[in-house]
Amino acid sequence: MGFFDKIKEFSIKISEVENSIYSGKTDYLEIYERNLQLEKEIEQRTKELNLANKRILTLQHILDMMNSARPLQSVLDNIVNSIQGELGYLHSNIIKVDSDEKGKFMTVLAQSKDAAIQRINDIIHDPMQKRRLAFAPESFYAEALNEKKIVQTKNFEKALKYILPDMDDKIVEEALSERYSKSLIIIPLYTRNVPFGLFCVFSSREELTESETDFLSTYAQQIEVAITIADLFETVKSQAVTDGLTGLYNRRYFEEYLKKEVTRAQRQNQPFSIIGLDLDFLKKINDVYGHAYGDLAIKTIANILKKNARSIDVAARMGGEEFNVLLPGIESKGAMIAAERIRKAIESEEIETIGHITASIGVATYLEHSDNIEEVLELTDQAMYMSKRNGRNQVTLAKPITETSWQEIAVNTFMDILSKHNVPIDTGMAEEICTKLRNANSTKDSLYSAADMINSVYNPLHSDGIMKSKVLLAVSLAKRFDLPKEQIDNLRIATLLYDIGNLMLPPEILLKRGPLTDVEHIKMQEHPVIAAREILKPISYIQDVIPIIEHHHENWDGTGYPGKISKDEIPMTSQIILIVDAYFALTEQRPYRSKLSPKEAVEIIKQDAGKKWNQALVQEFVSLIDHDLN
Ligand code: GH3
Ligand code: MG
Repeated sequence: MGFFDKIKEFSIKISEVENSIYSGKTDYLEIYERNLQLEKEIEQRTKELNLANKRILTLQHILDMMNSARPLQSVLDNIVNSIQGELGYLHSNIIKVDSDEKGKFMTVLAQSKDAAIQRINDIIHDPMQKRRLAFAPESFYAEALNEKKIVQTKNFEKALKYILPDMDDKIVEEALSERYSKSLIIIPLYTRNVPFGLFCVFSSREELTESETDFLSTYAQQIEVAITIADLFETVKSQAVTDGLTGLYNRRYFEEYLKKEVTRAQRQNQPFSIIGLDLDFLKKINDVYGHAYGDLAIKTIANILKKNARSIDVAARMGGEEFNVLLPGIESKGAMIAAERIRKAIESEEIETIGHITASIGVATYLEHSDNIEEVLELTDQAMYMSKRNGRNQVTLAKPITETSWQEIAVNTFMDILSKHNVPIDTGMAEEICTKLRNANSTKDSLYSAADMINSVYNPLHSDGIMKSKVLLAVSLAKRFDLPKEQIDNLRIATLLYDIGNLMLPPEILLKRGPLTDVEHIKMQEHPVIAAREILKPISYIQDVIPIIEHHHENWDGTGYPGKISKDEIPMTSQIILIVDAYFALTEQRPYRSKLSPKEAVEIIKQDAGKKWNQALVQEFVSLIDHDLN
């Protein structure tokens, strides 16, 4: 091969290589471009997958919630909060459509917690959730619900004005001035094929894709299911007659049965008894062994009650650790035997880990202790508390109200107030007072000194022995006006209790040395009402005493408080307390002044005759004190 041939061959080879390089280059470019496209596609698919995943997770979350037997409100709150954020929804709410005599209206059942809604609520003052919203028939809300279709709108002004037609234009403008939502999507909610309301979603996008529509529909279906389940659950629960933990009858059933039993007892003039039982020291069992063992103790009692009940008895768990047994046709003697049998059975049961438990029991009998069933229930409760106070693990029979002396009523009232925690009193102090009261049935003096102790809690200058003097003075006055015995008894109890509302006032007001500000004065003046309505109202057997206390600061001329009533509208007994209280206040030392002599006090009281108190009352009062002084 000649030189040129070689060159030729070589150049052919070069161009071949060149060619192959060139064509490789185009191949490579093609691949590169295809790769780019694929990457984009993969990115898009991943995005879609991620979104689908998020949607599925959101739905899964709702399903989990619905399985957790939470109350509907908490499920709905969770639903509206879980759709926000990553899915591009800024706010959502669930609205119920209702109708009444004025027509259809809407209320917000749940709405997501976010800054946007907070801001709107601030601007429109009343939160959306508390408002009655209009359901205009021409609105897109109605369109969505009536035509059962998803409606999307960008007109937020209309959306707000439809539901709050009376809203000022300026406020609407302000509310919408700063928002990130681009559209509002309204999805109809139907439960069991009946229109229920709307699911509203505020989206950061203007458009609504098909897959998004699918997702929102599925999401709305979950809401529908949640509402339907909750509704069914409520129905089933309201029809239930037994308690889940113990299988005993529940409170609702007991109360219904009791009503029937009262009618029957009246018709046949036959008594029935109620055994009220409370497990002792359950809190301790819970604390030491854990709640499960507390539950076990409750179940043990329930089983004993079941075992001991006759077929016609109704044993019920009234709540927590409180049980009642109704014994039809049984008078108190028989009920006491049954109660004692139950007490013994409880005491002798051996429970794993805990050992032995006890219960305190009270017994009262309808038609025997009272023919008012409310009173019988209260008496049962009182007798049960008496068992607690006397050391637990015992049975106490109620006492008929008519046979109870005023001292016993006063003692029980104080005990109830202290042991049912009606007032914030130091436990050690409460125990000490209770011990005193326990001995009070025999001697009135321990009742008086217990009352002195309670008074000194809010009045450190209170001197011992004052309560007794107050009661005696009040009774002497009442006798001069020939008040009947029951009123005098009520007056005695009221005299011991009238200032107890002070226990609920802040000490800085009660102990203030200087004059009170207007605000403090108003607060101070609340004490009769606090005593009457907060502390004493739950105690059924002193209902006649309560009005005396409530009005013990009313003035004869109507300038007093809290009712501003005047003259004969004021109970005589309240007037007596007012004057007796004034006299002792004047003759006692106060943070802001020294004590006056009885003569000086009487002079001051006289000045207010016809103003603070009835003229005749002052006359009798002055003559009583003069009599004492001479
Ligand atoms: P007392 O002898 O004075 O009745 O004392 P106590 O601790 O039994 O009564 P208290 O009323 O001070 O406390 C009752 C406790 O019972 C408080 C509450 O947490 C608990 N409890 C109520 N219901 C249940 C329940 O269903 N299960 C359990 N484990 N504890 C309950
Ligand atoms: Mg208890």
